[in-house]
Amino acid sequence: VIRNAIVFGILFLGALSAPKDDPEIETITGPELIGHVRYLASDEMKGRGNGSPEMDQAADFLAARLKSYGLAPAFAGDFFQKFEIVIRTDFAPESKVVLRSGATANELALYSGFLPLGLGEETSDIDGELLFAGYGIVTENPPYDDFSGIDASGKILVVMTHSPREKEESKTGEDQLALQSTLTSKAMNARAHGAKGVIIIVDPSHADESEALPPFKEGGTAEEWGLPVVAVHVEAVEPLFQASGRNLAEIHRTIDREMKPQSFAFAGARAEIRLAATRFRKAVRNVGAFLAGETDECIVIGAHYDHLGLGERNSLAPRLAGTPHPGADDNASGVAALLEVAQAFSHEKPQRTIVFAAFAGEELGLLGSSYFVKNPPFLKERLVAMINMDMVGRPRNSKIYVNGVGTSPAFQRIVEEGAKESGLEAVIAKSGYSASDQTAFVAAGIPSLFFFSGLHSDYHKPSDTWDKIDAAASEKVARMVYRVADDVAALPAKPEYVRVEEPAPPAGRSGGMSRGPYFGSIPDFGEDVKGVRFADVRDGSPAAKAGLRADDILIRFGGQEIKNLYDFTFALRAHKPGDSVDVTVLREGKEMTVAVTLEKRE
Ligand SMILES: [Zn+2]
Ligand SMILES: [Zn+2]
Repeated sequence: VIRNAIVFGILFLGALSAPKDDPEIETITGPELIGHVRYLASDEMKGRGNGSPEMDQAADFLAARLKSYGLAPAFAGDFFQKFEIVIRTDFAPESKVVLRSGATANELALYSGFLPLGLGEETSDIDGELLFAGYGIVTENPPYDDFSGIDASGKILVVMTHSPREKEESKTGEDQLALQSTLTSKAMNARAHGAKGVIIIVDPSHADESEALPPFKEGGTAEEWGLPVVAVHVEAVEPLFQASGRNLAEIHRTIDREMKPQSFAFAGARAEIRLAATRFRKAVRNVGAFLAGETDECIVIGAHYDHLGLGERNSLAPRLAGTPHPGADDNASGVAALLEVAQAFSHEKPQRTIVFAAFAGEELGLLGSSYFVKNPPFLKERLVAMINMDMVGRPRNSKIYVNGVGTSPAFQRIVEEGAKESGLEAVIAKSGYSASDQTAFVAAGIPSLFFFSGLHSDYHKPSDTWDKIDAAASEKVARMVYRVADDVAALPAKPEYVRVEEPAPPAGRSGGMSRGPYFGSIPDFGEDVKGVRFADVRDGSPAAKAGLRADDILIRFGGQEIKNLYDFTFALRAHKPGDSVDVTVLREGKEMTVAVTLEKRE
C-alpha cells in the first residue's frame, strides 16, 4: 500500500478530517502495547538478563506472538537464531597476586585472597613497582587529581574504592567525584595514565567490605577494561603502607580534610598479578519471523529484547544491583511496538518481504544484531533496509528522534510524511551510528533508520518501569514505524545506501591553522542548547574511548567554558594530538568529566 505524498497533501489541505489510512493501522493500539510492555517488564521477567531463563521465556513469548499473527519462521524453519555470548569468566587456580615488600613476599590465593574484577587479555602476567594512587580519580570540579605528582606509567596502582568527602552530599548537584567513583572509571583513569594493573582496596570509611565490593567468591564476570584489575583485602596491603611509614586511615582523613591527593610510591614494593581466564559462554537467541512480499528484497524491522537482568553489569544504579532492572522503556517498549507493527502487517502482502527481528545481546554490545547481519536469514544482498526501535515508549512533547535519515536519499520524505500522519514531530539526524542495533546494519552498508524517544533519568535503573510508558504516544510511534516501513517496503527502486560523513567543523581554516586534533563527536546542529549536544560519537574515536556518547552536552573543554560550536572548535584547535584534555559534559542533567586523549586527524 503506497500512500502518495501529493494525494496526502491535498487531503490534508482540503479537509481537516483524518487522512485516509490503511485499516490495518487501527490494530496498533496503546492498550495492546502497554499489555506487552507490562508482561516483558514484569517482576517475573527479572529484567530479561542475557543468559537468564527469564530471557529465554521472553524469547518464547515473542516467537509465540509472531506465530499467532500467521508469520513464518525466519531462520530456516525456526523462529530462533542461536549464538553464544560470554556470561561468566572463570579463573584457573594458578591465578595469583603476589605483593613484595623488600625481602618478604605475600602470595594471595584466588577468591580467598583476591578477586579478579577486570582483565585485558584472557591470560596476563604482569609485574611492576607499586604506587598508591588514592581514589584513582581526576576531577575538574572540585579540582582534584590523584595522578598528580606520580608517574603511573608502567606501574601497578593501589587504589581505594569510592571518592573523597563522600558523606557530604553535593549541594550544587555537581557530582563529579561521585561519578568517578565507579570501578570502571578507576580502571579507565589508571589505563589513561599508563598503568599496567590496578589493585583495589576498600577505603577506610567503608570498613564493611560488602558495601564496597562484590563478594570474594567464584562466579563473577570480570569486565574487559583493558588491564588486569583485582580487589584485595585491606590487611594484605597494610604492611606496604607501614614499610613506607604511612598510615592508610590517616591518608584518608587528610584527603577528606584538605582535598589534596596523597599519592606516593611504596618504598621497595612490587606486585605480580597473574590471571588465567576462561570465558564461559551460553547460547542466547535472536527471534525472527517474516512476511513474504512480492519480491525477493527484504527489509528488517528490529528491536532488542534483552536488558540488564538484576543489574550486575552496566547498571546506572549499582547499589541496587540484585534488584530487577525491568527495562520497560529499554526496550520492552521497542519489542512491544515490533509486535504491534508485525500484527498490522500480517494482514497484507507487501511489495518487499519484511523480517521482524527481536535481538538478544544488545546490552552487551550489539551482539545479537551483529550476529544477525553476519548470518542473515536470507542472502545478505536481499537486505535493502533496516528499521530499529530502542526506547520508544516515552516521547516528550510528541517528539521522536529518527537517526539514519542520511543513510539513504529515499528516507527523508518518508520519515517526514510518516511523522506528520502520526501526529509526531520527527527530530532528524543523518547519521545512522549510535549505541543500538541499527549500527550493525549501517556498518554493513544497509540503509537504516533508528527510532528513539529520548533518554531519561530512569535509563538503566530499576525505576524504568511499565507505568511510566506513555500508551498514547507509543501508539503514535508504532503507527509511524508501520507507515515508514510500509513506504520503504513499497519503494519502486531499492533504497540506495549513502555513507554519512562526519560534518566538517563550522569555522573555516584561517592563517594556515589546521582543523585541530581529532576528537570524534558529531555535533547536533539542530539543538538549541547552551553548550554543544553530541548527535553522535564516532566508534573508536577519542571521545568514544573516554565514554562520551550521543546526547551528552559538552559544557567545558580543557578548562574552557563551551557555549556553542564556535567555542568548541576554538578550544579544540588550541590543543595538539596526544594532549589529554578534561572534558565536562551534561548527561541527563548531571555534570560528568572525563579525560580525553586527542588523536591526529586522518
Ligand atoms: Zn536499548
Ligand atoms: Zn540499554
